[in-house]
Formats: sequence, structure tokens, C-alpha cells
Amino acid sequence: MIRCRRCNMTRADGLCLRCKWTPQRIRRERAKLKVTQDMFAHGLGVAWVTVARWEALTGGSQPSKRNLALLETKTAEWARGRR
Ligand SMILES: [Zn+2]
Repeated sequence: MIRCRRCNMTRADGLCLRCKWTPQRIRRERAKLKVTQDMFAHGLGVAWVTVARWEALTGGSQPSKRNLALLETKTAEWARGRR
């Protein structure tokens, strides 16, 4: 095991999900998939306002552990075109 480059949490692959899925990254990944916040939220099974909070640079909230895992798997799936 190695440690997250940013928060020092033990990780298998360099950066933990919490440090990886920054508001900027969520927005960027969503832009790449060409979906609105609403569509993105629907695909993940969360409310639109939840995605809006994740993408907020100030006053937002971090995705829960479960949602971090969803972001990781779903965006990869969608990027491969399996929607
Ligand atoms: Zn970290």
C-alpha cells in the first residue's frame, strides 16, 4: 500500500477518491460527458442539488464515500459509452 499524495491516507493508487474528486474535477468530467448537472445527478441516483453542491467551489459539500465510489465507476462506464 502507498499513501495518498495529498492527505496521506493509505491508498492503493496514489490519490484517494476524496482528494481525486475535487469540485473542479467533477465539473470537468461532467463537461466531458456533455451532460447537465441534472442528467449527471439522475445517472448517479442523487438529487440535482447534490451535484450542484459537489461542484461548488465555496460552501459546497464533498461526496459521501458511497457517492465517491459511484462517481468513480459511473463516469468510467459512461466515458466508455455504456449508458
Ligand atoms: Zn487523499
